[in-house]
Amino acid sequence: MNYLEDKNRSGEYLRLALSYLVKYDLPANPVNYTVWYEYVSGRNLKLKKAVDLSMKSNHSMDRGCIENFYKKYVTDGDRIVISRLLTKINLMLRDISHHILETEGDLAGHGKNLGELAEKINTAHDFEGIREIVDQMLEETRGLIKSGSRLQSRMSVSTQDLKQLSLELEQSQKEAQTDALTGLANRRGLEKVFELERIRAKQNMVPFSVILMDIDHFKKVNDAYGHLVGDSLLKGIARILTQYLRRNDVAARFGGEEFLVVLPETDIDGASTVAKKIQKALSRKEWKVKESGKRIGAVTVSMGVAKYTMNEPQEALVKRADDALYQAKRSGRNQIVTQADIG
Ligand code: GH3
Ligand code: MG
Ligand code: MG
Repeated sequence: MNYLEDKNRSGEYLRLALSYLVKYDLPANPVNYTVWYEYVSGRNLKLKKAVDLSMKSNHSMDRGCIENFYKKYVTDGDRIVISRLLTKINLMLRDISHHILETEGDLAGHGKNLGELAEKINTAHDFEGIREIVDQMLEETRGLIKSGSRLQSRMSVSTQDLKQLSLELEQSQKEAQTDALTGLANRRGLEKVFELERIRAKQNMVPFSVILMDIDHFKKVNDAYGHLVGDSLLKGIARILTQYLRRNDVAARFGGEEFLVVLPETDIDGASTVAKKIQKALSRKEWKVKESGKRIGAVTVSMGVAKYTMNEPQEALVKRADDALYQAKRSGRNQIVTQADIG
């Protein structure tokens, strides 16, 4: 779902959403927050109805229940888009086959008439008779051309529709692989990147590396300045990541405040250099709350670096990066730890 409301309105929704979180004693995690945000904004009608019904029947609004609403009414965007595209494809197929059948009927009619003329030609024995047959031939042929060109023009309209549909499909696929907040790849997009990089690594016999990073004390930012400021900070950090990466590198939002960077054809040393560059860029950045100008100061991240071992499952690679990240947190945060460091 796209969130297009302005600052004031979204602030109001935030306040209302929070009051529900407090009322039902729920942690302000992204799942709970999103459900209540969408509920109070009233834009997700199915969700609203389901929640209202649940409240009316005094159902307990615990974490599990909210998570179910989230799964059912918030994350099914894909299904809606796919069903819309399928309906369009269906209509187009029906249209095209209708045109073809119609033309087929026309062609068969003209073919039959021409066949009859071929028989008639044996019976013609004067100029008038021949003229009549030639005139009819001309008429039938014109009819044939007309049916053909009608089909052609209809097919050219269908081709344009198909091109449009193909663009829509591409756009929807892209959206499904993109994190709506930061514009980076999401987990699904990351799957695709891993798929590609594993093939590339095998072909070129050159491994790739990953950096898993987690914002330090991010909860404090949320607590001190609010969730929306936290969100803006996530966007800002995503911007810095893209700014400092090479063209083939990919940054993805791995989870709430965790990012994963994939560095093709890069070893641990190369990946550490990139990690240091990001660390340095962040250390120079002074964050502020846009609206009030209130100073947040510098924000640091902890990073774990790991290198792909040929043919291993991606989970194993991410696990090594996660272990290194864990070590970075334990060693005081704002650290870069590689898999080699934890041996
Ligand atoms: P640490 O240095 O140990 O990583 O501390 P931390 O506070 O960053 O870690 P913790 O995992 O305890 O908290 C992460 C917080 O990130 C909790 C959660 O509410 C917040 N968060 C996760 N996703 C989002 C999001 O999309 N937007 C906002 N604003 N906050 C988020
Ligand atoms: Mg975390
Ligand atoms: Mg954190």
